[in-house]
Amino acid sequence: NGNLAAVDPEVAAAVGAELNRQQTTLEMIASENFAPQAVLEAQGSVLTNKYAEGYPGRRYYGGCEHVDVIERLAIERIKELFGATYANVQPHSGAQANAAAMFALLKPGDTIMGLDLAHGGHLTHGMRINFSGKLYNVVPYHVREDDHRVDMDEVARLARENKPQLIIAGWSAYPRQLDFKRFREIADEVGAKLMVDMAHFAGLVAAGLHPNPVPHAHVVTTTTHKTLGGPRGGVILSSDEEFTKKFNSAVFPGQQGGPLEHVIAGKAVAFKVAAGEEFKDRQRRTVEGAQVLAERLLADDAKAAGVQLVSGGTDVHLVLVDLRNSELDGQQAEDRLHEIGITVNRNAVPNDPRPPMVTSGLRIGTPALATRGFGKAEFTEVADVIAEALKPGFDETTSAKLRARVEALAAKHPLYPNL
Ligand code: PLP
Repeated sequence: NGNLAAVDPEVAAAVGAELNRQQTTLEMIASENFAPQAVLEAQGSVLTNKYAEGYPGRRYYGGCEHVDVIERLAIERIKELFGATYANVQPHSGAQANAAAMFALLKPGDTIMGLDLAHGGHLTHGMRINFSGKLYNVVPYHVREDDHRVDMDEVARLARENKPQLIIAGWSAYPRQLDFKRFREIADEVGAKLMVDMAHFAGLVAAGLHPNPVPHAHVVTTTTHKTLGGPRGGVILSSDEEFTKKFNSAVFPGQQGGPLEHVIAGKAVAFKVAAGEEFKDRQRRTVEGAQVLAERLLADDAKAAGVQLVSGGTDVHLVLVDLRNSELDGQQAEDRLHEIGITVNRNAVPNDPRPPMVTSGLRIGTPALATRGFGKAEFTEVADVIAEALKPGFDETTSAKLRARVEALAAKHPLYPNL
């Protein structure tokens, strides 16, 4: 028997334990989701064996007739989903997609503008020790101090002063929507290209619950595993014919060798799922869940415990909890929720006085639980459990009670019952 348990019991045991963790706890990391079983199946298939450097119909290896079918399906489906005329589904990850898109549009030493990492941006939008910070001259923009919204007047001013070649709009920790039209106007005014990284909110766009950046941007990048709910990976989209050849050669051979055709098969399946009615309903419950959470965490008892929300609420799939007035820092709050079976990540809030390994905030997202089937009633219960956990006076009795409520919620919506 050559199965995993027989060949490698140690890895098999850890995989089994991880499945159990996912099934019995509540996953609220905003960038995570549960890929459908069909996606897992595609990813675990013999496609992992195949070399396919190049693109469908133009490969550098023989025997690509079947992977060509799969990659073409993935390309056509995601173009349709977002109304783009071009898609590259080969980037191994979101970071690779961004690196390739920037490689196509920029030369080393060019100037880029992105949302400051400490204000919700991503590493690849210009962090100092990321490739983006090393290769390019970075001018970060910020959120406003009072309402925590991206300061578009600052974006316009910095763009006029610094004449960037690229402006990046997108975020990893920001609970509001961006004004893509205004970003494009600013980019056009200073002769910059506009790249939108919709990694976090792509699923909401696909469901029509969030403005689509494709008509506004020269290029749009995304991951496929966050709200989009597919396998881990990246995609580049564009409707600007001027650049499409450049993006293809920037991914291969610019950044990568052989594409991961097993992952591309998972992407194709996920894009098919994302075009369906059930997916729309799931994204609707995702946003509703985040709003329920925001409402509960804005209530008087939470306020008395020093809980605040960055920007005072949410329009998307996550809330950013500001604990600067709480007795808990981000690390302590993350640990406390972990103790009762809720997984989140600590996150810096704008102008955070604490270091990045500690922080004064939590990022809490609803996509994975919505995928599990959670609706308003379940999110109301989760929100209450979180609000109770963040109050002073948390002790072993409270912990056991809250843990039991978490277990009941997990049991109500079984995850991967056939695995
Ligand atoms: N872009 C944004 C906005 C993200 O939030 C992330 C992931 O956190 C990425 C890109 C990178 O994706 P990956 O982790 O697949 O490289």
